[in-house]
Formats: sequence, C-alpha cells, structure tokens
Amino acid sequence: MRARVQKTGRFRARYVPRRKHCAFCVDKSEKIDYKAPDKLRRYISDRGRIEPRRKTGTCAKHQRVLALAIKRARHLALLPYVAAHIHDMGGVGLSG
Ligand SMILES: [Zn+2]
Repeated sequence: MRARVQKTGRFRARYVPRRKHCAFCVDKSEKIDYKAPDKLRRYISDRGRIEPRRKTGTCAKHQRVLALAIKRARHLALLPYVAAHIHDMGGVGLSG
C-alpha cells in the first residue's frame, strides 16, 4: 500500500520566464512611441512602475528605449509616476 503522497508544497513556484523574443524585435513595425501610452501601459505595473525585463521578455536594447519612452510619457502626464496618480487618472495609461 502506498503511503500518502508527499506534497512538495511550493517547490517550483518561482517565476519561470519563457524564452520568447522581445515583442519589439518580433514585430518590427511596432515602434516604441512615448505618444502612445496605451502601448506602453503593458510595460507598466499596476503601481505605475516599469516592469522588469525578466517579466516582459523585452530585450536589453528595447528595454532601454522603452524605459525612456515611459519616462517621456510620464513627463507629458500620459502615464503615472506613482500609484497615487493612477487613482487620479482612473487607470494606467488612461488619458483624460
Ligand atoms: Zn528587442
């Protein structure tokens, strides 16, 4: 008879990044535009922070461009700087 199966619990609960190529490398037509906050918001967390490369799969080259674009968009008030701004704007990347 089999003894009770041991539950390993959170053995491999670690975030495993899928080896996909960066979205901007795959789709070359997709430009990183600071005037398009709806595109940039995918790379911003719900706290208004720029998502790390390991989470979005963006390559180093495009992550740099992306970070710059997000910062520009923030300066133009298209994207939030801090979580408190998100509430004011009614969501990440929502203009108006
Ligand atoms: Zn890339």
